[in-house]
Amino acid sequence: MELLRVRGAERAALYQRADTLRQQIMGDAVFLRGIVEFSNVCGNDCHYCGIRAGNGGLRRYRLDDDEILAVARGMPALGLHTIVLQSGEAPSVSADRRLGRLIARIKRETPLAVTLSVGNRPRATYAYWRDCGMDRYLLRFETTDAALFARLHPDCDFAARIACLEHLRALGVQVGSGFMIGLPGETVETLARNIMLCRDLDLDMIGIGPFIAHPDTPLAGCRNAYADDPEMHFVALAVLRQFNPRAHIPATTAYDAVFREPPGRDLALRRGADVFMPNVTPLRHKNDYQLYPGKPGLDGEDHGVFAARMSRLGRPVASGPGHALRLVAAGTA
Ligand code: SF4
Repeated sequence: MELLRVRGAERAALYQRADTLRQQIMGDAVFLRGIVEFSNVCGNDCHYCGIRAGNGGLRRYRLDDDEILAVARGMPALGLHTIVLQSGEAPSVSADRRLGRLIARIKRETPLAVTLSVGNRPRATYAYWRDCGMDRYLLRFETTDAALFARLHPDCDFAARIACLEHLRALGVQVGSGFMIGLPGETVETLARNIMLCRDLDLDMIGIGPFIAHPDTPLAGCRNAYADDPEMHFVALAVLRQFNPRAHIPATTAYDAVFREPPGRDLALRRGADVFMPNVTPLRHKNDYQLYPGKPGLDGEDHGVFAARMSRLGRPVASGPGHALRLVAAGTA
């Protein structure tokens, strides 16, 4: 709480400490993960989300497996060694089996690490995907305020979300989670608890990003809790790095949507983040996957601009998938 409340020159010192820690532990290279938003079909109605089931104005799509494979095959040439398959949460036995077969094909036909981000599932489904070759899973808990979580997620409760993360960890999958910054009703105490929960879950990757109200959701028009002090989004990131020194922390796209000049993701990579996630979804579908408005990259290929961004930052790009540091540490301890 004390760190989250610093101001002025102390903030600059906090950013500097986070950047130094990132450099000392994670190194200078920026790790890349290519995101493929393969389906915007979702059965849930999370109150902040632009692709929620209740949003009837959306063109729903699911990419063909061959099209996803074609994107995956092209990724190594772009310097991308991890594919992140992301979609809405739409569980069905046949769809989950099909996803397993797709993971196995990607592992067979490409050198990529495979990350899934498709929501809550039973432990047996996660185990099946792991056996198919899934390396990592991303599932954000969004907030530690259980009452706020319940208000925002009519289809899920906080305990079930945490249980999913624990199942994944027990199965030996590398686990990513994280939270939204500035949800309406959030306090600085909640933000501190969010950061501490990331530490307690001992996550391999932590994604955080500003809450941005989507006009076609129940939270339309709601202000970010830090609207009067948007720098808090970077303060949160820098404190997160201090409490999770060994975790991969992406500069999430929502930072670019809030901070335009200099771009928010550039700043995030100087204030604790070490991962950049270019969106490699085929361009014709990027518009149909707007979790929040103002998402960058809708008018062009996100991966086309990251090289320029890295040279602006003076940082090299990592030449491998960047597996969890815990695995390295375990082998050398
Ligand atoms: S946040 Fe995820 S689960 Fe919730 S409505 Fe959006 S896509 Fe569906």
